[in-house]
Amino acid sequence: MTDTQSTPQAASYDYAIEMQQVCTRFGDKVVHEGLDLQIRRGEIFAIVGGSGSGKSTLLREMILLHTPDSGTVKVLGCDLAGVSDEQASSLRQRCGVMFQKGGLFGTLTVTENIGLPLREHSELDDASINDIAAWKLSLSGLEPESASLYPAELSGGMLKRAALARALALDPELLFLDEPTAGLDPASAGGLDTLLRDLHALYQPTIVMITHDLDLLWQVTHRVAVLGEGKVLAVGTMEELAKLEHPIIRDYFDGARG
Ligand code: ADP
Ligand code: MG
Repeated sequence: MTDTQSTPQAASYDYAIEMQQVCTRFGDKVVHEGLDLQIRRGEIFAIVGGSGSGKSTLLREMILLHTPDSGTVKVLGCDLAGVSDEQASSLRQRCGVMFQKGGLFGTLTVTENIGLPLREHSELDDASINDIAAWKLSLSGLEPESASLYPAELSGGMLKRAALARALALDPELLFLDEPTAGLDPASAGGLDTLLRDLHALYQPTIVMITHDLDLLWQVTHRVAVLGEGKVLAVGTMEELAKLEHPIIRDYFDGARG
């Protein structure tokens, strides 16, 4: 790692994410009720839980799109409660997000979409931005021909990969993936496990994903948190979780593994 990459900020945290006693409600609906979660730096971490258990809300709280009613959220060592606009912008640069529906701009080509964060946060010229976009595209498993296509021209699998390429544009320390393989047939989803493992080997980013994909859970993640009843019911490796007797976790494993 060069001196320019190892900023004092980057060296000052052990946990990529630290949440303490987070409470979140929407009207009468209590979503998180004193939730604690710690995700280690460099870890590939997954969040699982039934529909409506608050996974997406948790992710939104980690990326400054929602503020919990109470409790502490620290991202890359920075307490989100007190962040200035400048700190928030710096955090956004250090985090890549692949949204569930891709979130690409329909009026821009794939290359233009990937280039957008680079235009916003760097002084690079067009040629350098296009070179980086081409590199991220290939890292994400897309053919060079897809560079000039518009999102509407992409298949579901290609769309997810393009969204991943955009999330990687700024070499994020922390990468968030919301349901990276949901809605994909096995052929399109296949290969994402290897791709994420290779990416992790290359950069060692912390990866936080929401997924139900057992292949990703068993093959790629280091640890998994199970959400339910407004809390993290358990955290551990898949091997550890598979042994637990908690009914919600059992339902999950018995249902998911057959
Ligand atoms: P998950 O991703 O685990 O399916 P969510 O975090 O999307 O769950 O939602 C948790 C609960 O909070 C759900 O009951 C959902 O309807 C509710 N909810 C989420 N966002 C909002 C919102 N902006 N306004 C009102 N209710 C919401
Ligand atoms: Mg969700």
